[in-house]
Amino acid sequence: MQKKMFANQLYKTYETYKEQKLSHRRIKHNDILPLIKNRNSGVFEISEIGKSFEGREIYLLKAGTGKIKVMLWSQMHGDEPTATQALFDIFNFFEHPGDLKDEAELILKNCTLYFIPMLNPDGAKRFQRRNAQDIDINRDALRLESPEAKLLMKYRDVVNPDFGFNLHDQDVWYSAGNTKHPATLSFLTPAFDNEKTINESRKKSMQLIAEMNDVLQNFIPNQIGRYSDDFMPTAFGDNIQKKGTSTILIESGGFADDQERQIVRKLNFVAILYALYSISNNNFVIKEITDYEKIPFNKKNKLFDYIIRNAAIPNNNMKYKADIGIRSRSLHDKDIFEIEEIGDLSQNYAYFEIDINGAEIISVNIGNDAEFLIQTYFVS
Ligand SMILES: [Zn+2]
Repeated sequence: MQKKMFANQLYKTYETYKEQKLSHRRIKHNDILPLIKNRNSGVFEISEIGKSFEGREIYLLKAGTGKIKVMLWSQMHGDEPTATQALFDIFNFFEHPGDLKDEAELILKNCTLYFIPMLNPDGAKRFQRRNAQDIDINRDALRLESPEAKLLMKYRDVVNPDFGFNLHDQDVWYSAGNTKHPATLSFLTPAFDNEKTINESRKKSMQLIAEMNDVLQNFIPNQIGRYSDDFMPTAFGDNIQKKGTSTILIESGGFADDQERQIVRKLNFVAILYALYSISNNNFVIKEITDYEKIPFNKKNKLFDYIIRNAAIPNNNMKYKADIGIRSRSLHDKDIFEIEEIGDLSQNYAYFEIDINGAEIISVNIGNDAEFLIQTYFVS
């Protein structure tokens, strides 16, 4: 099948592969355990490869017989679950590919896939970035003091993959370039030295990202960014790249009205399978490094969830004009919305905006709960 058609088919038929038992961001180890242990199609070889600091089992799922080795790991940050869900959709795809059987078979014939979903189950339990030792696993790639980091590096070395997919979530307030468009997905091929050398293996990850960007632009035009490639000596991507694995970081970001990131999950599903298809027929090598460099850099904190523009705010018997920026904050069990900025937000954008043209509102301060304002101005 022509490659763009494959991506379109994945996008169109996604619901038939979606793992329906996972449907929100606060998934736990207990949610994925049965989805691993009860897989008995024979497509996957499943092994427990170790335990988290608090003793939760971490699994490796292996599929395919090809000579190109690809390793994918998700959720080393406990509150970044979007790709974990997409990996379970991808498992369903390989077990029941339906009309895309030829493409699934091609991938499994040319590649051997190694999946490690939810590398940080203790962090997932608390819906926090760090593990149970309060170590950021992604800054522990050299010392390897956390069992999760030790495990990831051990299997990197055992498998020695040609390609590595390092799967994360990012804040939803990144824009793609200096624009109003959210960075719904962001990519990076990490550097392995301060000089940001581009060797053959790093070049391949640039080409592959350019290939994914190309096809994803059809679904989310202008909503793809890339991270700065400043070398981070203690991070995993950088060190895995250094060992000769072409490393691709994918960050799931924001999309309007997608608080649980289920649309972004679907885009992960398409992006990753499309990348695996491109790897298995080697057609990404037509891309140039400049195609990668054309992807705009992410701009941090450019976006808000909501902006109320031109409000007249009463304070101390005076009134002043200001824009009000509202962002969500994730607690362990829910998201809350708070006022994060008061002032001139003419250089910022939001998923939802309203201009109230100087109308007076209630007195507000930074940190206030914003639920009342959202109900008043955005929920009709
Ligand atoms: Zn992360």
